[in-house]
Amino acid sequence: MDPNAELNLHPASDATIAALPREKYADVKTADGEVECLVCKEAFKDEQVVIVLPCTHIFCADGCTEAWLKNRDNCPKCRATVPAVEGTQEADTVAAEEEETAEMRSDGNAEQDAAMDTVDAADVVAEKEIEDVVMEDA
Ligand SMILES: [Zn+2]
Ligand SMILES: [Zn+2]
Repeated sequence: MDPNAELNLHPASDATIAALPREKYADVKTADGEVECLVCKEAFKDEQVVIVLPCTHIFCADGCTEAWLKNRDNCPKCRATVPAVEGTQEADTVAAEEEETAEMRSDGNAEQDAAMDTVDAADVVAEKEIEDVVMEDA
């Protein structure tokens, strides 16, 4: 069995990888930040270009991050998902439209359900009254 099959890998698209911000390590390094790339275990150099993931973790820009993200769309360090750039907007619009349609449909049903509930309640009351009358007679 393929050991990778169970990992359910979601590769990041080229557009997603390309859209990630590239910064000079000297510009993004912090006192308590990372000092080495978790992918290649190489210490960052000040003049080196690094990729900054949305989770703010940084990795080498020239190979490591790209190679990693082509296999899975999350941070090598904290596993935070790197949001896909390509097609995201389109998918959101479709989802919103579908939601709206579903809402309209359920609104219609809700009105119908409410009307039926009223009838049911009246029937129950009427039935109960008849029952009470019968009981009194007996
Ligand atoms: Zn690296
Ligand atoms: Zn991270």
